Amino acid sequence: MSDPKSSIIDTHCHIVFSNFNEDREEVAKRWRSQGVKALLHACVEPSEIPAIKSMADQFQEIRYSVGVHPLDVHHWELETPNVLKKAAQDDKRVVAIGELGLDLFKAENLSEQLSILIPQLNLAFELNLPVIVHCRDAAKEMLEVFSKLSQDDCCPRGVMHCWSGNVQQMRKFLDLGFYISFSGNVTFKKAIDIHECAKEVPSSRFLVETDSPFLSPVPHRGKRNEPSFVKHVVERLAELRGESFFQIAEQTTKNARQLFALP
Ligand SMILES: [Zn+2]
Repeated sequence: MSDPKSSIIDTHCHIVFSNFNEDREEVAKRWRSQGVKALLHACVEPSEIPAIKSMADQFQEIRYSVGVHPLDVHHWELETPNVLKKAAQDDKRVVAIGELGLDLFKAENLSEQLSILIPQLNLAFELNLPVIVHCRDAAKEMLEVFSKLSQDDCCPRGVMHCWSGNVQQMRKFLDLGFYISFSGNVTFKKAIDIHECAKEVPSSRFLVETDSPFLSPVPHRGKRNEPSFVKHVVERLAELRGESFFQIAEQTTKNARQLFALP
């Protein structure tokens, strides 16, 4: 059961999306009532930044990232690296670069995705900010990129968001220093690999998130996801790891604060 005294951090959400336009205040009331003390709002392309910023003005517990998602390569322009850099330098509430990464599940344009990924990783390293990594059906390719940067001592730190890989892959990302973030898909019955990862990940290296409005956890599957539902992710992790709700909430909050500058 959830513990009313727990603090939880939803490390990945997109409440700027229009499906929250009708009831954002209500959604915020619910996350506050469930102990969600901070939220990290992800960015998929630069034109979202002003709206995300005003969301952070409205809700004090929001921090955000700036970046371009691998499925948004068409939004990448010549000036994008400078736009991202300026946005990150202008507002202390920008605590990460992302979401960035590779998605070979929904697209095949690997070289194009790499061409916008590398400059963002370089920017994150330059600004000493962590990255939020979207990696779908592309663990091998992603590991190659990180290993190369790591050999050259210029790999940023960061989190593998919405983890959906297996234990072997997870170990390699952990070895490179990355955190693993669990989302609603850890609550799915058939997600055996993710369950194994949840059992094995070291205490100091995992986070929780919703990825709202996507990927609602059980028992809300198929509906719009929202930050208060992060408690179901915590609950499932507690079951899988044989720990209490409170322990998982505290540990993941501590880890999130370690990785990102959060309230
Ligand atoms: Zn996202």
